[in-house]
Amino acid sequence: MAVKTSEQYYDSLKVLHPTTYILGEKVQNPHEHPLIKHMLAGVAKTYGLSHEPEGKRYLVAESKLIGEEVSRFVKFFESPDDLLAKVRMLKFLTQRIGTCVMRCTGMDAINSVGVEVYNCDKKYGTNYWERLLNFVKLIQKNDFVVFSGVTDVKGDRSLRPSEQKDPDMYLHVVDKDSGGIVVRGAKIHQTGSLCAHWGLIVPTREMREPDKDYAVCFAVPVDAEGVIHVYGRGTLEARALEDCDLGNVEYSKFAPMVIFNDVFVPWERVFLCGEYEFAGPMVRNFGNYHRHSHGGCKCGVGDVLVGAAAAAAEYNGLTGVSHINSKLAEMLKTVEAIYGCSIAASVEAEPTESGIYMVDPVLSNTSKLYEGKELHEAIRLMIEIAGGMVADMPSEKDMENPDIGPLLKKYLKGADNVPTEDRMRLFRFIEKLAFESRDIVSNIHGAGSPETHRMTVLRNADIESKKKLAKNLAGIKEGSGSL
Ligand SMILES: Cc1cc2nc3c(=O)[nH]c(=O)nc-3n(C[C@H](O)[C@H](O)[C@H](O)COP(=O)(O)OP(=O)(O)OC[C@H]3O[C@@H](n4cnc5c(N)ncnc54)[C@H](O)[C@@H]3O)c2cc1C
Repeated sequence: MAVKTSEQYYDSLKVLHPTTYILGEKVQNPHEHPLIKHMLAGVAKTYGLSHEPEGKRYLVAESKLIGEEVSRFVKFFESPDDLLAKVRMLKFLTQRIGTCVMRCTGMDAINSVGVEVYNCDKKYGTNYWERLLNFVKLIQKNDFVVFSGVTDVKGDRSLRPSEQKDPDMYLHVVDKDSGGIVVRGAKIHQTGSLCAHWGLIVPTREMREPDKDYAVCFAVPVDAEGVIHVYGRGTLEARALEDCDLGNVEYSKFAPMVIFNDVFVPWERVFLCGEYEFAGPMVRNFGNYHRHSHGGCKCGVGDVLVGAAAAAAEYNGLTGVSHINSKLAEMLKTVEAIYGCSIAASVEAEPTESGIYMVDPVLSNTSKLYEGKELHEAIRLMIEIAGGMVADMPSEKDMENPDIGPLLKKYLKGADNVPTEDRMRLFRFIEKLAFESRDIVSNIHGAGSPETHRMTVLRNADIESKKKLAKNLAGIKEGSGSL
């Protein structure tokens, strides 16, 4: 049977030696590292469940390609039922693992690439489809985990790949001969790269003729020479390192940065090389599939959120971009509404018998309700504007490491006039603004829980008088007796 048990999965990792840096240190056995073992446990659980009667129904399918039962994670979507089965499988798994299972990006990538290499062969007579089938047979027979390498570091976002000052800001072909190609660049936020056996590398955007060296798709073992995984630090490492207070104790998700330092890829594993018109459709397919697989003093803080978002856009090279300006306007709307309701609550204050004024309770509680709900929308917009690096940027210690520090300084650069250190400092600050638990929870529960705010609004809003207004305008004369 081609479906591995969890023990076989753990065994299969023993022969892999991916070059890995974690918090500034080169790590010899990354799979045993306390920060990584929780990642492996979730993936191992998906293997284990495949051998239980209920799990097998969700996770195992017949492959036409190899004529054997295989994991759905390495199967093509061959019918609407396959896509339904994928959704049901993911639901089944996350119900039991409680976090990302880190195998679906590879599944979605295999399918997205498949659609386009087929089209490319038809147009140019290339033999990418056959190569892809051979690769898929390999991963089906061995039940390998594949991570999808889509997102490039991208440098100045306003510039196309071929326009970047540093040509390596998008992964590209730097050499080729009769044996294969040599690629250079870096893919960031690579979910499960250290739980995987292979990476399937896909262009991150549409390409034009001048970008054709960047229109490259290939498969590579995670421990190929020149492939470097740099762990992106999140917010809960101390707990994982102490093995304590983890919450969901067993499982976790991480997304390292993967640097391709002149990596050789034999032609048999290359699935696109220069046919730039297929890069866009490939990544759009991926997006469609992957989305399928996946929802007072605070106005001062809100001003900082707006400022941080605007600065991130500037550091990404995106000053004056219209959709970013419109998001900044939405954030300002929320911040000013929080502020405005508090101002109005003061203006509409009424004296109590003591002579002390009481704020308008509806307006002050409305301000708080905006804070509890809409400020989170502002935080969401700040993250949307800034980008994924808010989640898992390599550590400052990695920057100090003489082997990878210079590579990180190069690949984490955005707009040309902004030092990489400033960009990293800003993103670390945004991470804190977005995820510091005391701030985030106080937006909701500070000054009482939201339900008390709603109750106070309702109690003071005089709904009966508002009903009368509506009925009068509708010409309803209650109590007239007529039907
Ligand atoms: C936890 C996590 C896991 C992930 N897992 C994976 C994975 O497994 N594989 C993978 O490949 N990727 C993965 N990603 C990456 C994810 O797909 C990217 O974060 C996402 O595509 C956004 O890219 P970015 O972070 O570079 O942000 P950016 O592209 O910098 O976007 C930031 C903002 O700038 C805007 N923008 C960007 N370029 C332009 C432009 N030219 N003009 C106008 N506006 C622009 C965007 O719309 C956005 O509002 C993951 C990300 C996270 C956070």
